[in-house]
Amino acid sequence: MEKKTYDDDVVNEPSMRDIVVKQMQERGVSLEEIAELTYNLQAKYIKELSFDTCLEHVERVVTKREVQNAILTGLELDKMAERGDMSEPLKTMLLEDYGLYGIDEVLALAIVNVYGSIGFTNFGYVDKVKPGIIKKIDEEGKQEGRCNTFLDDIVGAIAAAAASSVAHRYA
Ligand code: MG
Repeated sequence: MEKKTYDDDVVNEPSMRDIVVKQMQERGVSLEEIAELTYNLQAKYIKELSFDTCLEHVERVVTKREVQNAILTGLELDKMAERGDMSEPLKTMLLEDYGLYGIDEVLALAIVNVYGSIGFTNFGYVDKVKPGIIKKIDEEGKQEGRCNTFLDDIVGAIAAAAASSVAHRYA
């Protein structure tokens, strides 16, 4: 049998989008909740902005290969840390969400990067203010045995990238 490779053609099939959306769902996050963040980031700048437009742009973000790869990688690391399937000292760093670890933010920048400089500004804002679902993810991550170290940054980055995509469209 031929080995399946996730090259450009395969990645843009709906299936890869479905895989990452399902994986985020399993970690308690829906695209609608991400679109909510996007809406709140952009509504003050664009009067006629609708929630559905934000959701459309979130959808667009999760069809990008770099974004899908970052989601797969980050969520997997969170899950491995929870299972204890990881060496020390990294396991404790992730489980305790050490402030100086920083690679969760770096990975998320791969998502924001797709949409240029407005993306960075929005991501910084979400990371600092922790609105809506981000706060929920953060709180949940503090529970014993739960690791959301990568999840919060990935979700914030998708929301920020979608906000930038919205901004470019209305610019
Ligand atoms: Mg984090």
